[in-house]
Amino acid sequence: MKDEGGAAKEKGGLMKALSVVPLQAGSAALCDVDEPPVSDGPILVETLAVGICGTDIEILSGAYGWSPPGRSRLVLGHESLGRVLEAPDNGPVAPGDLVVGIVRRPDPVPCSSCAVLEWDFCRNGQYTERGIKEHDGYLSERYRITADFVVKVDPQLGVLGVLLEPTSVVAKAWEEVDRIGARAHWEPRTVLVTGAGPIGLLAALLGVQRGLEVHVLDRMSEGIKPDLVRALGARYHSGRIGDLGLHPDVIIECTGVSSVLLDAMSNIGVGGVMCLTGVSSGGHEISFDEGALNRSMVLENVAVVGSVNANRRHYEAAASALAAADPDWLSRLITRRVPLTAWSEALTRHDDDVKVIIEVQPSTAAAS
Ligand code: BGC
Repeated sequence: MKDEGGAAKEKGGLMKALSVVPLQAGSAALCDVDEPPVSDGPILVETLAVGICGTDIEILSGAYGWSPPGRSRLVLGHESLGRVLEAPDNGPVAPGDLVVGIVRRPDPVPCSSCAVLEWDFCRNGQYTERGIKEHDGYLSERYRITADFVVKVDPQLGVLGVLLEPTSVVAKAWEEVDRIGARAHWEPRTVLVTGAGPIGLLAALLGVQRGLEVHVLDRMSEGIKPDLVRALGARYHSGRIGDLGLHPDVIIECTGVSSVLLDAMSNIGVGGVMCLTGVSSGGHEISFDEGALNRSMVLENVAVVGSVNANRRHYEAAASALAAADPDWLSRLITRRVPLTAWSEALTRHDDDVKVIIEVQPSTAAAS
């Protein structure tokens, strides 16, 4: 299949890309598309691997996503790792460097946040996101990009660099917690992370790196998730938060499940900060005593904040966090690697999946 859109061919050839018609379930296909347009930037990158996350699954199920203007198909992929093929001399990246592309682009107005490069706080919703909203993603054999939106990865990380984008999301969540905590005297000791998927496990890693006592709660009572949590030196729980007797200073909520987040909110410590990173699907009404929650939040100075996306500062914080982490632990997060030709296998969930990646260039992928 050849995509109908795309910009003019720049190198004359075609390349493979996994694309969808947004809001149309079952439309995913590995297509031949034009080489990336020079208008995307002077840096040409060959994609090595792309991680699959809940947002991709939502897009694939027809529930989310926007195609580029004038096109019906959107190339997927926002958690990328690539190797630079071409770059201008004396720039921040050179051929051979391992890089990750930033997901969001500022809105064209720009709003006051995008004007200062805090596109993660875009005020008017006109931002674009590669692989999600109106801009082709990184799940193609090659892509082009400008220096402002590419982040260099420690070459020692190899394929583990594909974890940079999800780590940037948790680096931003932690920055929000720190900044809100600093509204008063702030000496946090304990953190509860709800959800032991990739975001929860990476949030737990950053909590351990901050010297906090880290607790992680998930539905699974055995398997790789408890093992990964314990290997971090953190404590693993399943069941109800209310039964743990825990009143953490910080909660990083990574499930988006209403019952879990309300249970968490009701058990946060005095003066605590809770950051919501999971996105609920909505439509699940549960009965809840909002009055009691309001009372404890006010009387105990509790702060709850939502957090999405990440700007360059967060990608850089994430790159440092990954470089400081145990590579063996990080490599256990990548539970399956699927070649691009077998892409559909990456989209079927297995019980013990943590992070599944699609290898676009398996033969040349950097060492893990
Ligand atoms: C991505 C973010 C993005 C969000 C909403 C997440 O999966 O990691 O970069 O802003 O989806 O589209």
